[in-house]
Amino acid sequence: MARYIDESCRVCRREGEKLFLKGSRCYTDKCAITRRAYGPGQHGQKRKKQSEYGMQLREKQKAKAFYGVLESQFRKYFEEAARSKEITGLKLLQILESRLDNIVYRLGLATSRAQARQLVRHGHFTVNGHKVDIPSYLTKVGDVIAVKEASKNAENFKSIIEATENGRPVPTWLESNLSDRSGKVVALPSRDEIDLNVQEHLIVELYSK
Ligand code: SF4
Repeated sequence: MARYIDESCRVCRREGEKLFLKGSRCYTDKCAITRRAYGPGQHGQKRKKQSEYGMQLREKQKAKAFYGVLESQFRKYFEEAARSKEITGLKLLQILESRLDNIVYRLGLATSRAQARQLVRHGHFTVNGHKVDIPSYLTKVGDVIAVKEASKNAENFKSIIEATENGRPVPTWLESNLSDRSGKVVALPSRDEIDLNVQEHLIVELYSK
């Protein structure tokens, strides 16, 4: 299956900020952004003046990398957001946030979105009691996401929860019950509740050309 394959820390360094692509390592001083806060490659330390198009492109690339989404899928999300009656940029982010892999990560049932994708693909999760193994599955308000019964006591979930339960806070639009390995989508996130530092209007401008 196609996926984002650029080396994670390199992506963060190119965007000039932490995108939290590597799980627990991102919260330690081993983080590459902490150690080398400049772009990757030979010319990484040179200051570059960006064109309007360049800025729009970087914002889009940042959002794609943050959620681990490929161009074709990302464009489909944009088209869906543009068709809605909501503000396009916010709707785009809400669609990305509602992906099952993101919800699993946000609930603290995976240490990174990449790990969440792998766990979902391996069939460890249910939505409203039904097995779902598609990371891009779009959840809705009211959906209950849970680790399937046979996996609840697996060692890997014990270590994931040890790593996440006292770390990342669960956003208020989700309810998490880590002891039961489950959670619920209780609302759509507002813009303030989405911790991606992106100017989504630049992405909208880019795709609207
Ligand atoms: Fe990004 Fe995490 Fe690598 Fe830091 S450790 S550069 S946040 S992927």
